[in-house]
Amino acid sequence: MSTGHLMACHDCDLLQRIPSVPEGSAALCRRCGIVLIKNKPKSFQRPLALLFAAVILFVMFNAFPFLTFKKGGLEHQTHVITGIRQLADQGMEALAALVALNLLIVPGLHLLASLYVLVPVSLNRKAPGMFRVFRYLRLLQPWHMVEIFMLGVLVSLVKLAKMAQIVPGVAVYSLTAFIFIMAAASAAVDPHEVWERWEGPR
Ligand SMILES: [Zn+2]
Repeated sequence: MSTGHLMACHDCDLLQRIPSVPEGSAALCRRCGIVLIKNKPKSFQRPLALLFAAVILFVMFNAFPFLTFKKGGLEHQTHVITGIRQLADQGMEALAALVALNLLIVPGLHLLASLYVLVPVSLNRKAPGMFRVFRYLRLLQPWHMVEIFMLGVLVSLVKLAKMAQIVPGVAVYSLTAFIFIMAAASAAVDPHEVWERWEGPR
């Protein structure tokens, strides 16, 4: 016995056996090609998995050394946080604030806000104010400048490489991965599906 059920095409009336339709695909009529059944992918699982990976990477690029400078017998290790503090200590408070905003505050807020919306939505629940948070989340998107920061780091690395030996730390790789994972997570969210949950199941 084959699986699936019999269904008549609502367009050309051809009676046919419909196989189980995998997620993200559709069953078409064998004769006229019209869509008979569509199985929409569960769009919250992929972004959620990506967001949890992003949380781990966010912790990693803050916890592990960013760069190690070696010159002569001296070795100097910097972390993201200590780097920001050093900028502020050297009188570059505005730059320190900009780096903190782009590297820690905006991505951190984005992560928290995304989880605050997507976790309840995927469980078919509602959290207070989550739809307002979701709207602000879309507004936050243009303020993502981690990529530009990364470019700045690369440029200064090339310049500094003449003065000292520089070893990129775990944080550099984690941050690079974080940029891609966050981009993938944002792309994986279907905003229409989130808004649909607002109205609730009919
Ligand atoms: Zn048909």
